[in-house]
Amino acid sequence: MDGTFSENDISRVVEADRAHIWHHLSQHKAYETTDPRIIVEGKGMRVWDQKGKEHLDAVSGGVWTVNVGYGRESIANAVRDQLIKLNYFAGSAGSIPGSHFAEKLIDKMPGMSRLYYCNSGSEANEKAFKMIRQIAHKRYGGKKHKILYRDRDYHGTTIACLSAGGQEERNAQYGPFTDGFVRVPHCLEYRKFEQDGAPEDNYGVWAADQIEKIILAEGPDTVGGLCLEPVTAGGGVITPPDGYWERVQEICRKYDVLLHIDEVVCGIGRTGEWFGYQHFGIQPDMVTMAKGVASGYAAIACLVTTEEVFNLFKDDASDPLNYFRDISTFGGCTAGPTAAIENMAIIERENLLQNTRDMGQYMLEELEELSDKYDVIGQVRGKGLFLGAELVQDRSTRVPVVEAQIQAVVADCMAQGVIIGATNRSVPGKNNTLCFSPALIAKKDDIDQIIAAVDGAMGRVFGSK
Ligand code: PMP
Repeated sequence: MDGTFSENDISRVVEADRAHIWHHLSQHKAYETTDPRIIVEGKGMRVWDQKGKEHLDAVSGGVWTVNVGYGRESIANAVRDQLIKLNYFAGSAGSIPGSHFAEKLIDKMPGMSRLYYCNSGSEANEKAFKMIRQIAHKRYGGKKHKILYRDRDYHGTTIACLSAGGQEERNAQYGPFTDGFVRVPHCLEYRKFEQDGAPEDNYGVWAADQIEKIILAEGPDTVGGLCLEPVTAGGGVITPPDGYWERVQEICRKYDVLLHIDEVVCGIGRTGEWFGYQHFGIQPDMVTMAKGVASGYAAIACLVTTEEVFNLFKDDASDPLNYFRDISTFGGCTAGPTAAIENMAIIERENLLQNTRDMGQYMLEELEELSDKYDVIGQVRGKGLFLGAELVQDRSTRVPVVEAQIQAVVADCMAQGVIIGATNRSVPGKNNTLCFSPALIAKKDDIDQIIAAVDGAMGRVFGSK
């Protein structure tokens, strides 16, 4: 830290936080006896808290967001210049950075064509749901309106997004939910023994076929869309099994179901390609993205569609309702696309997709080595710099470790100055996965520091073999 905050300033900040802030994802009782953590400054892969303690951030801002790292002056400068020129205009008008970013982005997404701006992942997903519903009304008399979503996937915090949410612990106490969302099974091969009828071989195709079964049971003329994460994030860092996505694409085409891929976490480089779906050679109809689009330097989310989807809302101009009757107030902020242009330019200039692939592979191997040392590591999985280690009490029964143990590992790493994450907490008997998503600029030394912290923590919490 540069010392611009005095002890007195900091204690006032802490007191104001205690008195007035309602933190995300927090049970506040804890703050009656401990100080809330306030992050004051960041540079590269590291952040400093109110006590001046340095942390290596292995989760890119807590939730897979700061892909290009902290303290990027080129983004700050570009945003500053744009804000002075024009900060905002919304409604039907466009903007110069809005057009430039659209051109740059679509260039990375062959087969896609149109970009709709908004400001959070949840909002982008809501817009996609609305488009699917509107298409059902326009083409199918409202009948083909159901949207399929998958067990363990997450698509956002609003009631409609939770209606499409496959993580019970996030949904509990927020019902009743919105009609017309139908759940399909997850595709986590490590836990296929919990799924009736899962085969020894070709699990990926079988898991996709379960989606077809549900489409047939619901009636293909009632199913309009399928929304999936390319690699499931908060549900346990689930990499899809071989053959899964190819079969999913076939099924969607067969039943005229729009394929909506939620790239809110994977989008813009996290997995080592611009988009997670690009590992699988498939062609979505809609793609949503948010977190890494501007690495948290501005709030921006995008919904990208094909020209075919777009044309459905344009071609019959004689119908006064034949357009997407929707707006996003902060979709008119120019800071978002301005930051996003420079964010993407940094990834290109610094060759960060390649770095993500290389460092992701290195980190995967290092985590696998740790699993030789600790039986409690049941499986290591992920893509690029988006990795998870599922912890189990016993490798043969695969019963997850208890919540307190995984929290103890996270807390021990924190005490060592390394911030890691854990997914899908508070689901007894379901899944407990340590989560790693360092910025795409990570170097071997950073990975080594993360691995050393996890090694130390695992030894203290579980003991060595
Ligand atoms: N989709 C996925 C896959 C996510 O992980 C998240 C957020 N964690 C969202 C959507 C929602 O994004 P936001 O919090 O920006 O609304």
